[in-house]
Amino acid sequence: MKFWLTKCEPTPNASGEQRPARRWVMVIDLRKCNGCQSCVVNCQQANGWSAHEPWRQVPERELKTGSTWRRLFMPSSCMHCANPPCQEVCPSGATYQRDDGIVDIDPALCLGCGYCVVACPYEARIIASDRGPAGVSGTCVKCNFCRPKLDAGLAAGLLPGVDPEATPACVNACLPGAMHFGDANDPQSTVSQLLREHPTHRVHEGLGTEPALHYIVD
Ligand code: SF4
Repeated sequence: MKFWLTKCEPTPNASGEQRPARRWVMVIDLRKCNGCQSCVVNCQQANGWSAHEPWRQVPERELKTGSTWRRLFMPSSCMHCANPPCQEVCPSGATYQRDDGIVDIDPALCLGCGYCVVACPYEARIIASDRGPAGVSGTCVKCNFCRPKLDAGLAAGLLPGVDPEATPACVNACLPGAMHFGDANDPQSTVSQLLREHPTHRVHEGLGTEPALHYIVD
């Protein structure tokens, strides 16, 4: 599968704009990712999945910047699109989007039809086997930004992206410090700072999905 990256200019401060309260995003610095797979393993352990049904991957991809081709490791998962094609095709309403941008699936409503698996341009969804957590076999599953942990952390007054107890497992596991998580609508957050200071790239930007995963490549 080919992933097309599109460069985005640094994001100016959001002062004065009307925005939702929060928009959870990841900023991933590909200059630091060494492909160690720690994020993949920690995600599997945290969410109870086997290596056969990963919610995230770290493929090695070829990327052209200027006239130079480079090979980079590229941590990938559900992009928590602002305009998610998976939600559009879901016939049962199982896939939903929260005000904070998280796209998740209600297993009680999911029919396991697989329409969303086909519709997702990022190959982020799988139909669960019976080797995963109880209650979701035969339904669609994917990364949810560790939503239960994030919500529990917020209820306890913790700050996702800062406090590990409220931060996605993959980000906590990243040994070289390539992965960052936080609220893009909080000008003080690390992700906002990175988005202000660096041009970033998003995958398949031309599709209008507006992914929440931003990559720093140079
Ligand atoms: Fe849906 Fe795929 Fe976008 Fe995730 S990456 S929100 S599964 S279309």
